Amino acid sequence: MKKRCLLLAFATFGISISAQKSIDQKVADLLSKMTLEEKVGQLVQYSGFEYATGPQNSNSASVLDEIKKGKVGSMLNVAGTEETRSFQKLALQSRLKIPLLFGQDVIHGYRTTFPVNLGQAASWDFGLIERSERIAATEASAYGIHWTFAPMVDIARDPRWGRVMEGSGEDTYLGTKIGLARIKGFQGKGLGNIDAVMACAKHFAAYGAAVGGRDYNSVDMSLRQLHETYLPPFKAAAEAGVATFMNSFNDINGIPATANKYIQRDLLKGKWNYQGFVVSDWGSIGEMVPHGYAKDNKEAAEKAILAGSDMDMESRAYMAELPGLVKEGKVDAKFIDDAARRILIKKFEMGLFDDPYRFSNDKRQQEQTNNLENRKFGREFGSKSIVLLKNANKVLPLSKSTKTVALIGPFGKETTANHGFWSVAFKDDNQRIVTQFDGIKNQLDKKSTLLYAKGCNADDQDTSMFAEAIETAKKADVVIMTLGEGHAMSGEAKSRSNIHFSGVQEELLKEIAKTGKPIVLMINAGRPLVFDWAADNISTIMYTWWLGTEAGNSIADVLFGTVNPAGKLPMSFPRTEGQIPVYYNHYNTGRPAKNNTDRNYVSAYIDLDNDPKFPFGYGLSYTDFNYSDMTLSSTDLKGNQTLEIKVTVSNKGKYDGEEVVQLYIRDLFGKVVRPVKELKGFQKIFIKKGESKTVNFKLTPEDLKFYDDALNYDWESGEFDIMVGTSSKDVQTKRINWVK
Ligand code: BGC
Repeated sequence: MKKRCLLLAFATFGISISAQKSIDQKVADLLSKMTLEEKVGQLVQYSGFEYATGPQNSNSASVLDEIKKGKVGSMLNVAGTEETRSFQKLALQSRLKIPLLFGQDVIHGYRTTFPVNLGQAASWDFGLIERSERIAATEASAYGIHWTFAPMVDIARDPRWGRVMEGSGEDTYLGTKIGLARIKGFQGKGLGNIDAVMACAKHFAAYGAAVGGRDYNSVDMSLRQLHETYLPPFKAAAEAGVATFMNSFNDINGIPATANKYIQRDLLKGKWNYQGFVVSDWGSIGEMVPHGYAKDNKEAAEKAILAGSDMDMESRAYMAELPGLVKEGKVDAKFIDDAARRILIKKFEMGLFDDPYRFSNDKRQQEQTNNLENRKFGREFGSKSIVLLKNANKVLPLSKSTKTVALIGPFGKETTANHGFWSVAFKDDNQRIVTQFDGIKNQLDKKSTLLYAKGCNADDQDTSMFAEAIETAKKADVVIMTLGEGHAMSGEAKSRSNIHFSGVQEELLKEIAKTGKPIVLMINAGRPLVFDWAADNISTIMYTWWLGTEAGNSIADVLFGTVNPAGKLPMSFPRTEGQIPVYYNHYNTGRPAKNNTDRNYVSAYIDLDNDPKFPFGYGLSYTDFNYSDMTLSSTDLKGNQTLEIKVTVSNKGKYDGEEVVQLYIRDLFGKVVRPVKELKGFQKIFIKKGESKTVNFKLTPEDLKFYDDALNYDWESGEFDIMVGTSSKDVQTKRINWVK
């Protein structure tokens, strides 16, 4: 098994074993010529923010001098031909002429932006996700970027945490597979290819489990839970040959991830035999001082390098402290050598020693970035990320000849907001954005009218625009309301305790509802929001996230039925903040709620239904799918047999459409309590109206394995429920017995 993983890793890198050997030799030769300071220099990463127009224009000389002295290994936030080249020139003036690595947060697209990552996850479509990262890598590499700080593979169960927008939601299986698709997309045919960027699995580890959903907060959890829920996407990324890892700001059971030897050295570099390098998160080495884990930067640097953090992003602690720590004998030089070696290997693999300027390329920028093809893809991806939550009166899809449509809400004419948080798009990319208003207008018949009223802002209490919005609604046959949270209300350091529509948007919605006009509610957000009133009172709701450059077109394609929505929620949507965390794969208590006969829900609050408002895996289509004839190859299995599961899905409605058919299991009793459901597979299938398809799944004992309290990973004989359905809530179940 181990051998296979190793081969896979090489296959992903696209580097043969002999080429790898020769790189190892070159790195060893180079290291033998380097001074201690030069080696530490490779471990240093600075941000180029303050040099936004290039080093030649900067007054701040010190970093530039350090680059010339070989004391900097990498820069982040430096992009574009002119900038990357002028920094690289400085590095080539250093004694050993070691080129810089340029890193950047390319999170959901570069010049062509795509849906925020949680929205992408709602597509449950690895092909689309991989393709989007391929495009992002092609665009970013043309601007001289070698390395993206993505994918974020943090599992997250708390929508108050602002960074859920950047991940793939609450489920380990889905999150792991999406992470792999992203890495494949970024690294393409392998490092060294001109359109491949190094990916980075972040944030290692458990950053998504911050207490209370407050960004950067502590994480206190059993190692069992850590291994079962939070580490699998990282382990899979390591096995697939992700070029780098980034550690995280949080502490895990009292030890900051940055200085966590168990996580970084013992597990990642030890047990998982990972050969890439680990970059700290921004300033996370220095932050161990206020965190209370190091008395000063010197101690922080010592603890970080010993624990396996190879590169210091912007703490400025390694260069200041590591040479002294080695001289004092507190840090063995072998740790510096190992970190420098790992980083230099990547520079060789990227071909930077052959040609340090090979990536930035004006011609590629013109031809391959933000071109029609990329935007056409963005449009498709946007529409496939939308989740239809309600369509009770079949108001959707709208007819293009609807006489008068009103678009009401603060986001209808937004431009840059459509990029979503974490966009590094350029100024002229903003001009290319298709607003929701324009997207809808372009598809409505010429004879129809599209009215618009903002109604309110997203972030204040001003109701003075309500009257105009109500008048506008009264003139319309259908009102499309565009509400939610501003694009900068989710993202890093954007935790919120109140995740309702921001400002007075809900009041506006209630006022418009009083007009009695049919309302289509579109919810723009980077996270699951709480909208109990709307969910109960508005009959048509679609979740549109923030969809990127082509947002307006993607939305209009779904509104008018060119695209039949097929998105499914990658996170459970809570009824209210007090219910958080609510996630589908929880454990039972010994005393499940009385009103639940299926033993599937933990005991409830007295003032709230216990299930979420919208469950994980949920999403509607314009057509109706019917599940029938679930059959199992056997209900009594032994040892290493394979269980085959079949189900027929029929499209009984009026439209062709796609459906995500989901497979869950439940291990009824275990050495440790097992979740009430665990996603183990899914298939996204297209079925023409009136037709049926049989979907086949396979399960082997490998799929039944879990970590016990001694961290053994194995399965047990016993009974299992096998479930197939359209969401985590709506499944058919058959019980089996499987003996070891
Ligand atoms: C974030 C990282 C990001 C880094 C560089 C940090 O604040 O946590 O995810 O890659 O900044 O921008």
